[in-house]
Amino acid sequence: MTVAVVGAGLAGLSAAWALRGAAADVVVLDAGRRPGGMIVTERRDGFVVEGGPDGFLAAEPDIQELAREIGIAERLVDQVARGAALWTGRRLKPLAEGKAAELLGIQVSANAGTQFRTFATGMADVVEALIARLVPSLRTTQGVTAIGPAARGWRLSFTGASSLDAEAVILAVPAWVAARLLAGVGVSAARELDTVLYAPSITVSLAYRADQVPGTLEGTGFVAAPDAGGAVRACTYAWRKYPKRAPEGFALLRAFVGPLDGDPASIAHAELAATLSIAGDPLWTRVFHWPRGLPRYPRGHAERVAAVRDRLARLAPLAIAGAGFDGAGVSACVKSGREAARVMLERLGRV
Ligand SMILES: Cc1cc2nc3c(=O)[nH]c(=O)nc-3n(C[C@H](O)[C@H](O)[C@H](O)COP(=O)(O)OP(=O)(O)OC[C@H]3O[C@@H](n4cnc5c(N)ncnc54)[C@H](O)[C@@H]3O)c2cc1C
Repeated sequence: MTVAVVGAGLAGLSAAWALRGAAADVVVLDAGRRPGGMIVTERRDGFVVEGGPDGFLAAEPDIQELAREIGIAERLVDQVARGAALWTGRRLKPLAEGKAAELLGIQVSANAGTQFRTFATGMADVVEALIARLVPSLRTTQGVTAIGPAARGWRLSFTGASSLDAEAVILAVPAWVAARLLAGVGVSAARELDTVLYAPSITVSLAYRADQVPGTLEGTGFVAAPDAGGAVRACTYAWRKYPKRAPEGFALLRAFVGPLDGDPASIAHAELAATLSIAGDPLWTRVFHWPRGLPRYPRGHAERVAAVRDRLARLAPLAIAGAGFDGAGVSACVKSGREAARVMLERLGRV
């Protein structure tokens, strides 16, 4: 029995790990060169630089359960600094707990708390551990261009006219990719999944000597008020928020900026220098572009996803998983991937 997981982001890797646990023969296919999808951590001269997510709410169980299963529970680390500030455009003022997420448009359930957690050397710890355990099953630069019915299950087509047959398929890809692939097998309701909007974003990490940054900075960072002006929408004091993000004597900031003209690193530095009274230039900067970053769900999204799943239940085993469908947070992606694996195993009579 082969189950193909399309997409090696956290949702796809979590699905593959759950399938492997049930002794299924799994193959994970990703269009990119690097597995992990939106999770990207770079370690550089003792700095831990996150390009995508940097943590998750401590109240979210799924990613932590996964960490225990794959033997990296001891790498879970807690947020150190607490509280965030609001940049009004003229000054920083303290923000009420939980208000920062609201201002950034991130949905957090009321009882989820505000304590965050991450992994000791970055979010890629979890991806690297999964990859190490899934190695023979993982194939990168394998973009799936179409799905079609096969004698038993599905036939996946790739760029370059090659194909692969699988009894079951999990599509752990962004919503717009799933919409296209599913429309190709007659799931017309899936076209509507294209209404999920992926907001463009740029993250800029900036390294400084600690003496360039005022020692009076407090909390985990700031969020800019909608009318503050400027390109920086939010900034994390990364080296204060989590332990060991920068070597002793150095500081690491991460700015979130919207689409802009010009060099994001110099614009972010200029604005942060003014807001935080930073002295001198950064030692280095690293920019990550996310032309399609965090998904935002239009009204009626849950019903549309449910309608697609209803339709899929009447076809050969085929599932959807990931941030495009079940929530953008990394823990929600783990949950979504594992649930898709469970449904596929059930359909295959394995549970
Ligand atoms: C800047 C930024 C900051 C974030 N911060 C946080 C945070 O702090 N906390 C948090 O919980 N979440 C955060 N998120 C959200 C979170 O990172 C994502 O929602 C989550 O990682 C998505 O995982 P996924 O597996 O669903 O999708 P992805 O990571 O997008 O993976 C999908 C994979 O599918 C592959 N693929 C696409 N098309 C094909 C194809 N045709 N064939 C084969 N493969 C294909 C892609 O290459 C990709 O690897 C952040 C996101 C961004 C961009």
